[in-house]
Amino acid sequence: MNKQTLADFDPQIKEAIKHELNRQEQGLEMIPSENFVSLAVLEALGSILTNKYSEGYVGKRYYGGCEYIDVAEQLAIDRAKQLFGAEHVNVQPLSGAPANIAVYFALLQPGDTVLGMDLSHGGHLTHGHPVTYMAKIFNFVRYKTNEIGKIDLDNLRAMALEHKPKIILVGYSAYSREIEYEKIKAIADEVGAITMADIAHIAGLIAAGEMNNPVPIFDIVTTTTHKTLRGPRGGMIMCKEKFAKDIDKAVFPGFQGGPHENNIAAKAIAFKEALEPSFKEYAKQIKANAKTLEAKFLASGYKLMFGGTDNHLLLVDVTGKGLSGKQAQIALDIAGITVNKNMIPDDPRSPMDPSGIRFGTPALTTRGMKETEMNLIADWMDEAIMNWQNEEKLIEIKNRVIELTKKFPLYPELQ
Ligand SMILES: *Cc1c(COP(=O)(O)O)cnc(C)c1O
Repeated sequence: MNKQTLADFDPQIKEAIKHELNRQEQGLEMIPSENFVSLAVLEALGSILTNKYSEGYVGKRYYGGCEYIDVAEQLAIDRAKQLFGAEHVNVQPLSGAPANIAVYFALLQPGDTVLGMDLSHGGHLTHGHPVTYMAKIFNFVRYKTNEIGKIDLDNLRAMALEHKPKIILVGYSAYSREIEYEKIKAIADEVGAITMADIAHIAGLIAAGEMNNPVPIFDIVTTTTHKTLRGPRGGMIMCKEKFAKDIDKAVFPGFQGGPHENNIAAKAIAFKEALEPSFKEYAKQIKANAKTLEAKFLASGYKLMFGGTDNHLLLVDVTGKGLSGKQAQIALDIAGITVNKNMIPDDPRSPMDPSGIRFGTPALTTRGMKETEMNLIADWMDEAIMNWQNEEKLIEIKNRVIELTKKFPLYPELQ
């Protein structure tokens, strides 16, 4: 075995990690799907649990020597059940996309229909975007949001009655409003569809009781663990007992091989953190920070999609300010503020150069930033957007950003 330190053996990788740490420390991370994990989570991720094969489930493994792996995986399951009130939990999905694919494989035959949200209205690639392999296997049909930015339940019901989907899917990547799970469940019952929610973005807000929880209402709920839930990069499926066997069989051996137990232990730690009272405060602050940004952007004359936000993110049409989403993303990047360009509902522009930008508050809130900082940052974002062709101005903003981030150190222990 190589006994050298990383710095001695592989200085190129060591350097890349160091530069990435500095980038994370010195920038304002506003991509709403990103967050910063604790040192405890990092420790488990980098632990010797990565060495172990443990195909199968707790108490029913195909390999020997799984007694301690079982302890970690069972803790992850028990804590997830407690956090969300789930009947059954599978913590093995390697990420959000494989979790969704495993659910489709568990419940659908090739050609079966899934009714999900139109992608330009906030849906995710894994909900049947034509570029995905899933779209070749299953028949995805779509509902939309209405003029006031709510999920159009009349349209959803009409689509459900017309297409008789096997699954009705809610849960989004760029939608900023609360979801009325009971009403969607009632429509699903009317047509005999299975209900599936993908809470990848908002799981942390739900765990903290700051958004509606679909777990007691819906048949299947998938999530990532690395967004607002603030755990390691990974996925998870929660379901009613009735679907437990099918889901477990679809994840393994249907779709995946050996689980990543270092990652599962890190999930258990993140769930323990999310059960602490301080996580509730964190979730409240995420929303308060997003509301502060909402007020500032409205006051500066931006068009907010869906009329504003109930969660951690905003989708903003910037074309009224004379630039595209891509141009805004590039300008903000130079200014040290990371957002992503994004389609707006029925966007007339192309996915590579859309009308909007999407940004949110989970990562900044983890750093300890509050309303005061949000007000400052919103002003700087507007300044960067209005001066998108003025490189000098953008660099001046970046210097302000670096000064601000110094007051909110991220990982001083790793410097
Ligand atoms: C992020 C996300 C996913 C995919 O998660 P990955 O971990 O990137 O595979 C799936 N669904 C939704 C709604 C998401 O936001």
